[in-house]
Amino acid sequence: MSDFSGYLCEGNLVAGQWIGADSGETIDVTNPATGEKLGTVPNCGAVETKRAIDAAHAAFKSFSQTDLNTRVGLLHRLREALLDNQEALAQLLTAEQGKPLAEARGEIGIGAAYVQWFAEEIRRAKGEIVPAPTGDRRLLVTRHPVGVVGMITPWNFPSSMLARKIAPALAAGCTVVAKPATATPYSGLAWAKLCEEAGYPSGTVNILTGSARGIGGAIMEDARVRKVTFTGSTEVGKELIRQSADTVKKVSMELGGNAPFIVFDDADIDAAIQGAMVSKYRNMGQTCVCANRIYVQAGIHDAFVEKLTAATAALKVGNGTEDGVEQGPMIDMDAVEKVEQFITDATEKGGKVVQGGKRHALGQTFFEPTVVTGATQDMAFATEEIFGPLSPVFKFDSEEQVVEMANATDFGLCAYVYTRDLGRVFRLNDALEYGMIGVNSGLITTVEAPFGGVKESGMGKEGGSQGLDDYLDTKYVAVAGIK
Ligand code: ADP
Repeated sequence: MSDFSGYLCEGNLVAGQWIGADSGETIDVTNPATGEKLGTVPNCGAVETKRAIDAAHAAFKSFSQTDLNTRVGLLHRLREALLDNQEALAQLLTAEQGKPLAEARGEIGIGAAYVQWFAEEIRRAKGEIVPAPTGDRRLLVTRHPVGVVGMITPWNFPSSMLARKIAPALAAGCTVVAKPATATPYSGLAWAKLCEEAGYPSGTVNILTGSARGIGGAIMEDARVRKVTFTGSTEVGKELIRQSADTVKKVSMELGGNAPFIVFDDADIDAAIQGAMVSKYRNMGQTCVCANRIYVQAGIHDAFVEKLTAATAALKVGNGTEDGVEQGPMIDMDAVEKVEQFITDATEKGGKVVQGGKRHALGQTFFEPTVVTGATQDMAFATEEIFGPLSPVFKFDSEEQVVEMANATDFGLCAYVYTRDLGRVFRLNDALEYGMIGVNSGLITTVEAPFGGVKESGMGKEGGSQGLDDYLDTKYVAVAGIK
């Protein structure tokens, strides 16, 4: 086992110093697989956050002026620091979050890939010269870093969610004040250490842990923070959008999902099962793009259920550090209870548990991967995000019917479709109200493509060439009097 102690940072990085909270208060961090305490982090609030914003604002003046080559070089060093320490960072991630090590290694890997992507993409953040209406002038469109960026991230991907915010911000020449989730702060704080190691100037990257309202409130009310990027629940996202009005900040919001996973009669069933397993059970079902509702066409419904049940029963549950484990613990007891409520609600309304359905014999927050059949649109998981290892299977008859069912939610993040009918693929691309659509694949996140939702799943994109847009302001300059 790789020693992660070098990246278990028990302080916060503010203005180039590793600090504790002014009050001296700390918060315990525990390993969800064992219940053991891993360490503590500072319980910081508004006062320390204001200091971080002061530092980021001061650093912005010079950092925003650095040469492109310098910024790209720093990003390359940051990527190398991540990859050189991939194993330790993955162990740390599993220890505080619970996901199997293979997934944790993948998360650090994709974080490094985001850093590389934005190091490349910033070289192509071009402006425009627009044809002018008269010959005496030239019209230029130029792009500039927005300023200090506030970042608030969740516990389910505590490393890569920061990667796709920190990397475009630093690429663009912005400075950072970030707050990782309290349940998994170390993978976030590790970014502060990595950025120091890469050579970022003091004050460029500040990371604080503690009170969500204290830190979040200070970020939101400060006019010097020009953009806030948030990944988390729709409820908190809406509150942040409201708070952003007073200082008219740019916001990007990556909020909840309720992904339909639609399997048509003409699909390759085995491929669909493989896709459903990865989409549903990755990170114990705790991703915003997890299959939330599995819709299966009547002709293959029973065969699909049989295979899904067998595959779900075969999942190996245990501590994510153990070899071959595919399902770790859930993040906390609230998450376990929420899944139990979905199961109770479904069975009361006629659903049938055909696999799992209860807490796992391992104790802690381990839960049996579960399949419920006979799912209907009046059940709670039809409209709410499950965020747990529960597969509800709905039966449908026609394409028209399933599109209506799939869109009957306030969310619009990701949808999956399994079919071999090319015409249907394009019809569904038009009809499904989702920001991302996976056709014959259950895993579509990649640095090259814009990740993000429509409707109440949020606004703004992360990754792709679009992933830089929110970190750059556009200016138009008219140069007249040239004739
Ligand atoms: P989840 O728990 O599903 O990840 P949350 O929206 O509760 O989603 O949390 C995501 C992040 O938002 C966490 O870092 C959390 O501490 C932070 N957060 C929660 N409430 C607020 C708030 N009122 N203001 C600012 N940040 C908040």
